[in-house]
Amino acid sequence: MSRFPVALLLVCSVAAAEPLPDAAGLNKLAAQYAPVELRLDLAKLPANELAALTRLVQAAEVIDGIFLQQDWAGNEALLLRLSADKSPEGQARLRYFLVQKGPWDRQKDYQPFLANVPAHPPEANFYPSSSTKEEVEKWIATLSGPEKEGAMGFYSVIRKTSDGKFRYIPYNVEYQNELERAARLLEEAAGLTQQPSLKKFLSARAAAFRSNEYVESDVAWMELDASIEPTIGPYETYEDQWFGYKAAFEAVIALRDDAETAKLSRFAAELQGLEDALPIDPKQRNPKLGALAPIRVVNQLYATGDAGHAVKSVAYNLPNDERVTREHGSKRIMLKNLQEAKFKMILVPIARAALAAADQKNVDFDAFFTFVLMHELMHGLGPHDIQVGGQKITARQALKETASAIEEAKADVAGMWAMQRLVEKGTLPKAMEKTMYVTYLAGAFRTLRFGTSDAHGKGMAVQLNYLLDHGGVTVGKDGAFAVDAAKMKEGLTGLTHDLMTLEATGDHDGAKKLLETQGVVRPEVQKLLGRLKAVPVDIDPVPVTAQGLLQK
Ligand code: ZN
Repeated sequence: MSRFPVALLLVCSVAAAEPLPDAAGLNKLAAQYAPVELRLDLAKLPANELAALTRLVQAAEVIDGIFLQQDWAGNEALLLRLSADKSPEGQARLRYFLVQKGPWDRQKDYQPFLANVPAHPPEANFYPSSSTKEEVEKWIATLSGPEKEGAMGFYSVIRKTSDGKFRYIPYNVEYQNELERAARLLEEAAGLTQQPSLKKFLSARAAAFRSNEYVESDVAWMELDASIEPTIGPYETYEDQWFGYKAAFEAVIALRDDAETAKLSRFAAELQGLEDALPIDPKQRNPKLGALAPIRVVNQLYATGDAGHAVKSVAYNLPNDERVTREHGSKRIMLKNLQEAKFKMILVPIARAALAAADQKNVDFDAFFTFVLMHELMHGLGPHDIQVGGQKITARQALKETASAIEEAKADVAGMWAMQRLVEKGTLPKAMEKTMYVTYLAGAFRTLRFGTSDAHGKGMAVQLNYLLDHGGVTVGKDGAFAVDAAKMKEGLTGLTHDLMTLEATGDHDGAKKLLETQGVVRPEVQKLLGRLKAVPVDIDPVPVTAQGLLQK
């Protein structure tokens, strides 16, 4: 573990250390995650589908073990030790370890909360712990062709051989035993289900676990349309904080919400019309949007691995592999029961603390849910493929390190802009005009509580400051925030224009300046965030129904 001389490491950790929390402190930390029981009605599932679902929940357990290994080599041994300690202190340590999936607090810049663990390794367990980022970078630079692709790819780890040379090891070798177990469970589920697209995905995914070739099964996942909606495999690369190359394993086992999925599909018909009306230079609009990516509204039964720690996603777009998305786009999954839980446990209490009395009662789940959907849809609208100095390039490439924050803020404000248009058109109910802005504002504070170090937080600070400057959001003498609907509408349109124009022109300097000057928490907002301390940071789903299946 010593990438630094030991003496230096000690000095660093002493300088940065807060005292480790005791049992009461750990319970307090855990209490920031409000327990919510996930109970789903399985009565409508035929016996064979229920049996398939049980196999998938079991496979998700296997995935959890792989994720622990990926994140830190010491995780599994530590978890065993913690599980064996039945004292109240031991149970408190275990509980918070399970929330964080590791001994570091993800909400506190990865500070350790347990004794005798090293500083959090930013390279996770994807790269040799005895090497530096520069050494790995240098080695990758010497490679070419398939070797380079393998080393930089999503589905391999980098290790050192006994002679000190680097090599990459594909996931199907590195996690061979676990992936074989997961593959068998998926195959059993494939044999049980009568739903063709589910059968196809599960068979293809099992094959991918063995071959390390994920493209075909990613495509099958895109086409999956069944009452059971599993997301299972290596996906996001956030855990690789050196290069963002390596995909962490996760599983989300869910059931499709048919009524909501049907309701949302009608928005699909609106997208080209929205693109054609975007508040940007008409030349920058896309005259022909690609085929609409599928959207699924689901209720989560069980989530593990990278999908099961600290702050939970309420919606996600996958896959990330460009070999798939170039041709097939990506699929959007919305976790409705998690959204309802977060709305109730977090957004409503935030609204109570933050908003003027008249606005509080208008905070509404339907507006919240529609906004999350619109955010997801708006990632597909606006400028993506652009030209800078005659060169074809993507907005993401041109905006470099600012791209994520700009794109997240764009998806938010354009989502609000789109909702407003759909209200005017009658596609959304007129009543939403009353609820959407205040709900959005309460949501802004929810995001800002996590700070401005990540793309969502920074992007949200830009939005809030813009709206404060343009009068869409006001602060009363008592510190309560209020909304001016007419100015809000103008402000959201103006900021949609500004952000999309930065993307259309690939204006990296402009984006950087905007984030530096506006991506900050102002004193009046900071004061409010101080008042939100008692509101849970997130939910801690208790998978009651899934546990019932595992015990059968
Ligand atoms: Zn987003």
